[in-house]
Amino acid sequence: KVFSRRELLHFDRWEKMLCSRWSNHLIRDVVFPNNFNCTRYLSSSLSLFHQKPKKIWRRGDIFLPVEKKDPSSSSVVSNSLLVRGGFIRKLGQGVHSMLPFGHRVMDRLKHIIVEELEAVGGQQVSLPLLHPRSLWDKTNRWEAAGQELFKVTDRHNSEHCLAPTHEEVITSIIGGSPPKRSALPILLFQIGKKFRDEIRPRFGVARGKEFEMLDLYSFDVSEEDTRKTYQVVSEAFQSIFRRMNLDVVVADAQSGNISDKPSQEFHVLSSSMGEDQIVHCEKCKYTANLEKAESKFIWGGVKIGVNGQNQLFVSKKGEETVLSDFEQLLNTGLKEGLQFSLVKGLSFYNATTNNKDNIVIVVVPQRRDPNFDKVTRLSGVSSSSHPFILFTATQPTDTDEFFSNMKKFNKKNISPLPVIIDQGVFLKEEGERKKGEEKVGWFGGETREVLVRVGDVQTAQNGDVCKKGGVSTVKKGIEIGHIFHLGTKYSSALGAIVKGPDTKPHPMDMGCYGIGVSRLMAAIVELNHDEKGMKWPFEVAPFKCAVVTVGKEERIHEEGEKITRLLMSLPELGDSVLLDDRNDSPGFKFTESELVGYPFVVVVGKSFQTSGEVEVWERSTGNKTLVLPEILNEFISEKIALLRKRQ
Ligand SMILES: [Zn+2]
Repeated sequence: KVFSRRELLHFDRWEKMLCSRWSNHLIRDVVFPNNFNCTRYLSSSLSLFHQKPKKIWRRGDIFLPVEKKDPSSSSVVSNSLLVRGGFIRKLGQGVHSMLPFGHRVMDRLKHIIVEELEAVGGQQVSLPLLHPRSLWDKTNRWEAAGQELFKVTDRHNSEHCLAPTHEEVITSIIGGSPPKRSALPILLFQIGKKFRDEIRPRFGVARGKEFEMLDLYSFDVSEEDTRKTYQVVSEAFQSIFRRMNLDVVVADAQSGNISDKPSQEFHVLSSSMGEDQIVHCEKCKYTANLEKAESKFIWGGVKIGVNGQNQLFVSKKGEETVLSDFEQLLNTGLKEGLQFSLVKGLSFYNATTNNKDNIVIVVVPQRRDPNFDKVTRLSGVSSSSHPFILFTATQPTDTDEFFSNMKKFNKKNISPLPVIIDQGVFLKEEGERKKGEEKVGWFGGETREVLVRVGDVQTAQNGDVCKKGGVSTVKKGIEIGHIFHLGTKYSSALGAIVKGPDTKPHPMDMGCYGIGVSRLMAAIVELNHDEKGMKWPFEVAPFKCAVVTVGKEERIHEEGEKITRLLMSLPELGDSVLLDDRNDSPGFKFTESELVGYPFVVVVGKSFQTSGEVEVWERSTGNKTLVLPEILNEFISEKIALLRKRQ
C-alpha cells in the first residue's frame, strides 16, 4: 500500500501500524531506510522516526555467567539460584557483586520503591557512607552499636564509621536548616549501600555485611502527627510489597537500640530462609515477633502468691503453704515443675530500695522458655552492665549450684530479693493486678523481703491462647522491612527544633522506615521458584519476556528479530524484551530461560515453520500456547493484566 502524504501526517495511524506484524516490515524495510525523506515530509509530531530505533537486547551480548551447578554449595535455594543464574557473585563473607541481571532486578525494585514513596510525599536524597565519630557520640550510639559498627580511622587519626543507618546525619542536616512548622511533615529517603559487621553473614545477599537499603526519615511537629505519617508510610510499604508479589505480615516488634517507642516489622513467611519467629493468630490477626509476642499460658501446676499478711506462699490444688525461706520456695518450685533463672545486669529499679545492678530471679514453668527480651523490658537494663543469664535451675538437684551462683553474684546480700514471676504462675488475688506491678512480701520464717514483679515473661509457643481466645501459631519469617516511631531521641540530641503551636521551640518528632532491598531480591526468589529455576514476578523480572529462536536458518533469525520488535512495541514490555538467537541447542536455551525465570518466553521454531504460529510460555503457570503473531501482543497484554490483577 502506498500512503498519501495526509495519511503519513497522522501520527495515530503510524502507531497502529507499529502494532501489527506486516507493518513491521514497512517500518524496518521502507520507512527507516528512507528516514531522511520522511523527516523532510513529516511534521515534528513524527519525532518518533527521528529517534534511533530501539536497541534489541541480545542474549549473546549479555554477560550472564550461568552455571550448571551451584559453585558456592549454598544452604538456601535463593542464593544458589541467583549464583547459578549469573545474577550475583560472592566476593567475600557477606559481600556480593551484582552482575547485569542482578543489577536490573535491583533497579526495578528501587524504581517501585521510589514511585510509591514519592507518591506519599517522600523526597530522595543521597547521604554519605563515611560518618565522623563525633556525630555518633552525640547520640551515644558509637558505643551502643558495639561490634556491629565498622570503624575506620583516617590518616589524621580521626575515627569514622561506615554507615549502618543515617538517623544522625539526616537529623543534623534538618537541625542545621530548621524548617517552618508549616513545612512539616518532611519525608526524606535514600536507597543506597549500608554496612554492618554481621556476626554471621549468610543466605547470600539476604544477610550481608554490605547491603542495599531504603531508609526514610520523617520529621513532624508532634507525636500525634508522626503517628499519622507512620500510618501513611506503612501503607506505602504494603503497596510496594504488593507490586513485588510478596505477601507480607506486619508484626509488632522490638526496637532494639534505635528507639524505645513502638515499631513494626514486615515479614514474608518462609520456612526455608526465615530467621525470625513470627507469632500469628488467624482469628484476631494478632501478629508479633517472637521476642515481643504476648502469650497467655495458664500454668496448671503449683502457683506462687502473696497473702493478706504479706507472706509468700505456694498454692497446690487450693492448698496454701506459707514459705519459711527462699530455699523452700526453690525446692518446692523445682519439684513441682517450675524453673528459676538467675539474671545479672538488670536494673529492677524500685523507688524504696534503689536496687540496681543486682541479680534478679525469674520464675516460669519448666516446659516453657523464659523470654529474655520480655524480662528486660519488665525490669529495665542497668546502664553499667549487659544483662545475661547466670544459671537456670530446672530440677531439684540444681539447688546447690543455684545457691553458689547466687551467693557469688549477690555479695551484698541485698534485700529485698527481686523476683520476677510469670503471670501464669502467680496466683492472682481478687481483682486483676496491674501488669508489672510490684509487691513486697516476706517469708514466714525469716524477715528477708522479696520484691515480686509479675508479668508476661515466657516465650510464646505454638498453640498458646491469644488475648482474644484464638490460637497462636509460630512461623518463620524473613524480615524485609522495619518501621520505627523514634520520638525526639535524635532531634533533641542533634538540635532539630521546630516552633510548636505554643510558639515555643520543640524537638521535632521523628519516624524512620527501612526496607532491605538486596534482601528483597533473595526473598522474592526464595518464594518464587521451582525445581527448574527462578520465577520472577512480572514487575521485577530482569527481562519480562525472552524470544527464543529454534533453528539456524536465516529466516528464523529474521523472524526472531521481527517478533522481538513487535513485542517491544507493547508498552507493558518496552525494552524489557530479550532476543536469544544464539546458535546453541534448543534444549540448552530452554533450560537456561527457565533457570533465569523470564515471566514470558516466546519460541519461534517448528510451529512457526509449519503453521506460522509462535509458542508462548508462561513461567508462573507453566502454560504453553500457540499464538499467531498477528494477535501476539493482544494475547500477552491480557496475560500481563491477569498477572497484575493477582497482585
Ligand atoms: Zn487472636
